[in-house]
Amino acid sequence: MRKNIVAGNWKMNTTLQEGVALAKAVNEALKGVEPKCDVIIAAPFTHLASINGVIDQNKLGLGAENCADHKSGAYTGEVSASMVASTGATYVILGHSERRQYYGETSATLKEKVGLALANNLTPIFCIGEVLEQRENGTYLEVVKTQIEEALFDLSAEDFSKIILAYEPVWAIGTGKTATDDQAEEMHAFIRDVIAKKYGNEVAENTSILYGGSCKPTNAKALFAKPNVDGGLIGGASLDAESFMGIVTAF
Ligand code: PEP
Repeated sequence: MRKNIVAGNWKMNTTLQEGVALAKAVNEALKGVEPKCDVIIAAPFTHLASINGVIDQNKLGLGAENCADHKSGAYTGEVSASMVASTGATYVILGHSERRQYYGETSATLKEKVGLALANNLTPIFCIGEVLEQRENGTYLEVVKTQIEEALFDLSAEDFSKIILAYEPVWAIGTGKTATDDQAEEMHAFIRDVIAKKYGNEVAENTSILYGGSCKPTNAKALFAKPNVDGGLIGGASLDAESFMGIVTAF
């Protein structure tokens, strides 16, 4: 059966010292509970090795927020999938809308990143989602289908089974505007159907599809109660251990 997952995306927030303190606080808070979901934090590259030293990865997974689309070499400033893996991180967020929008990431580059992540035993948390105009003009289902097909559908069923998907309507990210539970469920059920048509029901049923976009302790329960919503990718609310834990315990 697919896993329920709550993953934090810290984005470009926290200094190293603040990040280590936040990771420690989440790690500490998890000692007192038996969450009904896997819990992951995705932190800036600079923080990963230090955070790995202060958390129990049996209870709290660690991920990067991106990796390079090349294996190694003359790509100044880039961080490869193997470098990420060497820090002790085991997840990587790929295709976040902010990377697509501000850094020109395309399905072609994301395909490379996914391949490199998998080759380095990193689990991709692959983000998809429509912008407001596409939601309003009714093309949102098709947009998300294309994002999945272009970047992921050359994978074997075995490799596709290693991917976690995160549906993040761009109009809901950091805006305080959440998709309704029904809007999320419509999209998640559609995504599962798209996967089933390509890889079969078993793969589709086993794929975790997270919702992201202004998810908070106050709305997480209703979203997670939907049958096709398997957890959340959490931005702003993951920067505070208490509010992050409020979402973790919504399951
Ligand atoms: C995100 O960026 O992945 C996200 C979901 O952000 P927020 O929760 O702040 O909307």
